[in-house]
Amino acid sequence: MTDVLIIGGGVIGLSLAWDLAQHGRQVQVIDSGEPGKEASWAGAGILPPTSWKAALHPYDQLRALSSELHPLWAAALSKQTGIDTGYRTCGGIYLARTPGEAASLTGWANAATEEGIEVHRLGEREWEESGIREQGAVEGRRIRAAYLLPKEAQLRNPRHLQALRTACERLGVVITPGGAALDFEIRDGRVQTVITSAGPLQASQFCLTSGAWTGQICATLGIPLGIFPIRGQMVLFNTHDVSVLKHIVTEGSRYLVPREDGHVLAGSTEEEVGFDKSTTEEAVADLIAFARGLVPALENATVERKWAGLRPASFDSLPYLGLLPGLANCFVASGHFRSGLYLSPATAVVMSQMMRGEQPQIDLGPFRTGR
Ligand SMILES: Cc1cc2nc3c(=O)[nH]c(=O)nc-3n(C[C@H](O)[C@H](O)[C@H](O)COP(=O)(O)OP(=O)(O)OC[C@H]3O[C@@H](n4cnc5c(N)ncnc54)[C@H](O)[C@@H]3O)c2cc1C
Repeated sequence: MTDVLIIGGGVIGLSLAWDLAQHGRQVQVIDSGEPGKEASWAGAGILPPTSWKAALHPYDQLRALSSELHPLWAAALSKQTGIDTGYRTCGGIYLARTPGEAASLTGWANAATEEGIEVHRLGEREWEESGIREQGAVEGRRIRAAYLLPKEAQLRNPRHLQALRTACERLGVVITPGGAALDFEIRDGRVQTVITSAGPLQASQFCLTSGAWTGQICATLGIPLGIFPIRGQMVLFNTHDVSVLKHIVTEGSRYLVPREDGHVLAGSTEEEVGFDKSTTEEAVADLIAFARGLVPALENATVERKWAGLRPASFDSLPYLGLLPGLANCFVASGHFRSGLYLSPATAVVMSQMMRGEQPQIDLGPFRTGR
């Protein structure tokens, strides 16, 4: 019999499956669609640097552990599958324009330095060298502060997901696309069977990693869980030129991510529109203007593609990691909002530890489901 049935094959479900399979567990992953094609595919793959030094809260510890694991996972995935996940330490520049934004960015940069994260304040010549141009700025909102975090990294989501899926399959994980969890049979406080569109499935343990849809699935179990979808739209430019932009550039909640092949991603929005994954003309135009305003060289780039994804948000911005209330064998790992790619390796490690009966290396109390 399957040891663990994972419901949802995004980055969280596939990462957990990989870790459990490496510990000898028989794992099956079901997905209502094609695994790895929802939020995990849609995301930008930005991995900000962190440090253990000031990681007192378990959330910061999840971040620090993930930062440590990402390069190791990228190397292991490449070795096991031959797939380059696009993990690169490309550096990230953070910008502020108003005096208030500049003061707050400077405070944040100082705190990051104290925590042991490498941060450099950039002068105009330096940020211009990276491809950013002031003349593209909206009038009266000149760039007042710019900081470079040289250790900021990125990965290419579709490649990372393909590598995870391949690595899982090589270890015998059964991956079932088109298998939507519809209902649960429960006896004596344990899930016995999940009724899916691919038939009934049994396992010793279950884990819900269904992203923005996790709240809906919990509702069928009669368990309220505060997870809801927040749409993020994205625009992909093709510059046909690898030298247009050197680093990731972040200004407020929007960013540009240069890929090695001359593509540049511009993101993103935060919209509460239910499960609607369509793009809107207004948001796309706004992202294009933002991108070309910062990097005038993008005027000549073609807009190759646009899309939207649904981030799994939680009411207090922390993920849910742990057992569902009243059930002895049904876990959840969901609600990572804007950081699911980033937090996926640490989430997989601590969830796998918990599910295998070990003490998780990070206190998961703040992420408990009944909070
Ligand atoms: C535009 C955008 C940009 C982002 N940028 C970043 C970034 O730069 N860095 C970062 O770390 N994060 C980023 N994120 C957030 C990140 O993408 C998410 O936090 C992460 O992908 C969540 O992963 P997941 O596996 O929980 O969810 P998903 O990837 O959504 O996977 C859930 C899976 O569950 C399946 N499912 C749903 N219902 C059922 C069911 N009933 N039965 C079976 N399967 C089901 C779905 O088909 C899906 O494949 C971004 C997100 C978006 C949308």
